[in-house]
Amino acid sequence: MKNVLTWGLACVCGICLVQDAAAERPFFRAAGWPSWSAMVPDQVMPDTQAALAETRRQLEAICALQPEEYTFENTFVAYVRVGEQLQQVQTLVGHLMMTRPTAELQKAQQMMMEAVVRFSAERIGERRVEDVLMEAAKAPWVAQLEPEKQRYVQQVLEKLRNSGAGLSAEQQGRKTRIEKELHQLRQQFSANLERALTSWKLVITDPQELAGMPAEWMEQSAAAARALRIGTEDAPAWLVDLMMCPAMDVMTYCHVEETRRRCWEGVSSPGTARAVDNEPLLRRAMELRQEQAELLGYRHFADMQAARSMMGTAEKALVFVDQLMAAYKPAFDAEVAEYLAALSRVKGERLTRIEPWNELYFAKDIPADGEDFQIEQLSPYFQGERVIGGMLRLWEKLLGIRITEQKVHCLARGESSPAGVVEVWHPLVRAFTVHDTASGRHIGSFYMDLYPRPGKQGEAWCMPLQLAIPRADDSPREANLAALMANITPPGQQGHLLHHGDLYALFHEFGHLMHMLLAQPPLPGQHAMSVEQDFLEMPSQLQELWIWEPEALATFARHFRTDEPLPAELAVKLVSSRRKKSLLPTMQLLHTAKLDLEMNMHYADKFKDRPLDEAAAELLAPWRLPYTCTLPCELRTTTHTMTPGYAGCFYTYLWSELLARDAFSRFRKEGILNPATGADYRKHILEPGGSKPARQLFRDFMGRDPDPATMQQGLPGQ
Ligand SMILES: [Zn+2]
Repeated sequence: MKNVLTWGLACVCGICLVQDAAAERPFFRAAGWPSWSAMVPDQVMPDTQAALAETRRQLEAICALQPEEYTFENTFVAYVRVGEQLQQVQTLVGHLMMTRPTAELQKAQQMMMEAVVRFSAERIGERRVEDVLMEAAKAPWVAQLEPEKQRYVQQVLEKLRNSGAGLSAEQQGRKTRIEKELHQLRQQFSANLERALTSWKLVITDPQELAGMPAEWMEQSAAAARALRIGTEDAPAWLVDLMMCPAMDVMTYCHVEETRRRCWEGVSSPGTARAVDNEPLLRRAMELRQEQAELLGYRHFADMQAARSMMGTAEKALVFVDQLMAAYKPAFDAEVAEYLAALSRVKGERLTRIEPWNELYFAKDIPADGEDFQIEQLSPYFQGERVIGGMLRLWEKLLGIRITEQKVHCLARGESSPAGVVEVWHPLVRAFTVHDTASGRHIGSFYMDLYPRPGKQGEAWCMPLQLAIPRADDSPREANLAALMANITPPGQQGHLLHHGDLYALFHEFGHLMHMLLAQPPLPGQHAMSVEQDFLEMPSQLQELWIWEPEALATFARHFRTDEPLPAELAVKLVSSRRKKSLLPTMQLLHTAKLDLEMNMHYADKFKDRPLDEAAAELLAPWRLPYTCTLPCELRTTTHTMTPGYAGCFYTYLWSELLARDAFSRFRKEGILNPATGADYRKHILEPGGSKPARQLFRDFMGRDPDPATMQQGLPGQ
């Protein structure tokens, strides 16, 4: 990385130096906060070309080494660092596409991807870099390395194998073309979903058709309609869509079955309707992945993915999923019987099947064991700012960190930020620094972009924007930078009240955030994202468990009008509702996990020559509610199944969750707000990043291996 001292001699203030650097190469790694206004589409290709040139120099340096010059640093570490700057450009362009996309930026991203694919097909240097590394791996000094470094060498060799080292030039070319096509399929898949999610709308002019909807929802829906110039104050109309005024809400609360049925049509349309049908894309992806896996010496794509997980093989993962399904089957069957009996009572006729548009509506009205508790009763105690502040304070105390909010400014191109003010990509984005409480050291910084807006990608995620690169010398570590992205309930007219589901999104993503920021691994490439795939969700799934704990909620949940703390009675009901919660969400996770594995293992046998929805329905029939019609296959809308990291290993959510629940038992025993346990969690799980095997991380924190008995107590998702 370029030394910032070579920039901007006219001013010695740190902020100006950083801004000069950012102006020169806005998509490159920066020494401070990035300049978002400088990241214009026109700059994508110049920065990509510069990053490619640097990648070329890094590769040439390795290829030019003579065997007697090989060291651990100039071979294996240097290889892991190849393309750092290119990765940064791709990360920032990708982040902007997910937060404020434009047609120009999309075009620039496409050009960037094409340049990267062209580059990867080029030959660099006299020898291939993989040959140098294979040769270096045989050097006698490798056997003398510490065990951690030997594991590092093995990981590099594994990476080489997966990148196609050892393939002929013709096979390499085929592999590159497969990857390019898979990337295009993924983009098309997301574009289809985006198009379907933003285009489906239902306009209602008779409020009777929305009977049962909460007043706040009706206000928001009418305002959304007016914003589209549909309806007026005098002749109002109400808008239902899949984003801001969700059809799912209508399917939960609306008393009118016909309205619920129309909404279900909308909810089922993404990935299925003719113009946005994802089935051909999924099928093509399965064929390409099988070819890709075989090229690299794996039986199928799912095995290729499992090779970098704690599970090891796809067969073991499928056994794990099947065993969970079988374990929950008796309880699920009993629940279905109860559900149908209650439904029959409500409808006055004996039902053996249920229309999918009635599921959420009746599930809401069937109280668990006769309890009169609805989770929405908690919302008046979840005022947005209090919850966010409460979450930050809770993890400050547990993890021994100090989180400080920064002043922010959203700039236009060419404007400069006032000193001490952090630039953001949208006026509602907030920025924070994280310091270690004991040493005062700056560990990381992060943004929070929490509310939905047109163009921004849905759901919640955490984006590593710039992760520190450990240095061989003793120079100070860089700070990590990440963004917590969500689409929680935005500030409305009645205070700013969140749902319990919003707390889930916040706490879950904050778990990822802490993992990304607090990881302090010794070697490059060992950041939080490099842990085994089925451990990656462990910190987020652990940290989300605090939203079910009365002791944790008591630290921030107060009534937005009266300032009364959350009544103990409600907190108790929340906990017991969780124990009695329906198994349906858990089964849905298992459905997706099973389908994802089966498709990526047995596509030719079980799916190829059959309609997708029919094949999926047959596979899942024993574990589903008895519906009156065939539902669209879940994978049509599961973006994870097209994402390289998660495709073929969706089960990792379940495995990580079981690890998280096991780890939580230590907090349960020692105190969920106990800073000593929190410090151990930081030290043994978060700080090592991917520098140790996940099994070791777990053992270091728990003093034992994962306990299957503990993991089977209770159910995932509860
Ligand atoms: Zn997650």
